[in-house]
Amino acid sequence: MPTEATFLLAGLFLLLAAAGWAMGRFGERDEVEPPPPLNIDYLKGLNFLLNEQTDQALEHFLKMVRVDDKTIETHFALGNLFRRRGEVDRAIRIHQNIIARPDLAAEQRDQALLALANDYLKAGLLDRAEKLFVRLSEGSRYQVDALDKLIRIYEQEKEWQKAVDAAQQLAVLSGRSLVLQIAHYYCELAEAAARHKDFDLAREYVKKAQSGRPRTLRGSLVQAHIAQQTGDSGTALRLYQQIVEEHTYLISEALPATVAICTDEDQLDVLDQAIRTMLEKNPEMRSLVAHTAVVNDIGDIPIIDECVEMYLASEPTLAEFIDLQTVSADDEEATARVRRALSKLARSTPRYQCRECGFSSQRLLWQCPSCRSWETQRPASRVQFDTVLQHSIT
Ligand SMILES: [Zn+2]
Repeated sequence: MPTEATFLLAGLFLLLAAAGWAMGRFGERDEVEPPPPLNIDYLKGLNFLLNEQTDQALEHFLKMVRVDDKTIETHFALGNLFRRRGEVDRAIRIHQNIIARPDLAAEQRDQALLALANDYLKAGLLDRAEKLFVRLSEGSRYQVDALDKLIRIYEQEKEWQKAVDAAQQLAVLSGRSLVLQIAHYYCELAEAAARHKDFDLAREYVKKAQSGRPRTLRGSLVQAHIAQQTGDSGTALRLYQQIVEEHTYLISEALPATVAICTDEDQLDVLDQAIRTMLEKNPEMRSLVAHTAVVNDIGDIPIIDECVEMYLASEPTLAEFIDLQTVSADDEEATARVRRALSKLARSTPRYQCRECGFSSQRLLWQCPSCRSWETQRPASRVQFDTVLQHSIT
């Protein structure tokens, strides 16, 4: 049976054919030449398509000798249709065939190059796609589109310096503000440098990340990691504190690091007091502190243990999984057992969710892989028991 897409293409052919006929009929009355008939070659191709003989249709179109201004759009439409249907090999052949024509105008060549680059992108042939997009980004009417796609490729391949360059060029050309995403690229570069213990280079990248507005808090977080890794505990603690004051949700990232530093420095009582002060100002953060502690196995800090106990008591759904009746408040071993079970559950369910599209993940992702927005993920302050239930049912 012909598919919906086939009918769409058939409609397109008839429209083009009719337009060509109408132009001949009404547009050029003074000319002696009769109006062009419906192109028999296209009708043959159309017949193949309607019979779902896609290979024959493809070969037929590839062999058509005459591709001119009137008919080239049909070839593009066919190529794009193949790509949308996931038949990328066919799309590539159609577009390569257009490019191979010696009499092609520069504008049409660029259009064909763009289409072919999109085919390669869809096929996952990123190197080939990149080459074509670079060529188009250097001077064509498709510069903006090409730069957009290049940025996607560089993000996927983690080529962050190239992503910075392309985004800066795109910002100038399109007038769009890409400061936040460029700051994230610099943070990626800083994190990579820090992984290689090149802390001077990492600091340089952080500086670049912090130079624009709006500023990303990720820059401060990277700075804090660098301070922690280089033994500058004072700076690291100050930065983590600032980060949480500016955006309380980042306690999910800052708390484990802060606990690690304070354990090393034997300052857990100072930390206990600091968290108490913070929770007096923001009592709604208790469940996020508890959740973060449970996931990261943080214990033996009185205020954090209090938060976890409150959290356990306030979660009736827990009874579905753990026999809470057997647990009393002074039964330390049983409480520890509940915490371990909860920790296991928490680790098997997503902790972060994108505010834009709802995509969820275990780890904090600065760019949402689904909608590609930056800094839109927020941590869950509770274990998603409904998700656990769904998993256990399916
Ligand atoms: Zn998203």
